[in-house]
Amino acid sequence: MVKPSDIFQCQMCGDCCRGYGGTFVNEREIQRISEYLKTDTKTFLSDYCTLSGGRPLIKTSESGYCIFWDKVCTIHKVKPRMCRVWPFIEAILIDPSNWSVIKSMCPGIRTDVSAKELTACVRQVLQEYEREERELFKPST
Ligand code: SF4
Ligand code: SF4
Repeated sequence: MVKPSDIFQCQMCGDCCRGYGGTFVNEREIQRISEYLKTDTKTFLSDYCTLSGGRPLIKTSESGYCIFWDKVCTIHKVKPRMCRVWPFIEAILIDPSNWSVIKSMCPGIRTDVSAKELTACVRQVLQEYEREERELFKPST
């Protein structure tokens, strides 16, 4: 069985952290990143986010990269969902040919994989993400 790590190995090039785009943050992520930065959520939203369609999005710096990119992701431990699951995103489940589109932006991707194997990998990564989130936010007994 093909594993996600068989078809994707991050090359740390930072290309997916460049450009204005999809790094939205939800309430949990805002809380988590604010705590990691030792700041409050209001300051985090004003200093590190901008609004797009009414939703908070992490800002880009003048260099064109995400404000948290500095040769590595400086909030790696608490980075948002999109960054954690990337490049195994829902768009692949909708249309597996999106994998080839992402390949043109991401040198860590292998495309010699069937659509069936690919979608199984995407489902696995998304399920692992959900499981980790549940663990993290499990009510304490
Ligand atoms: S573009 Fe791909 S290889 Fe480069 S940092 Fe992003 S995920 Fe890693
Ligand atoms: S939060 Fe980290 S991984 Fe996500 S775009 Fe910014 S620098 Fe890249």
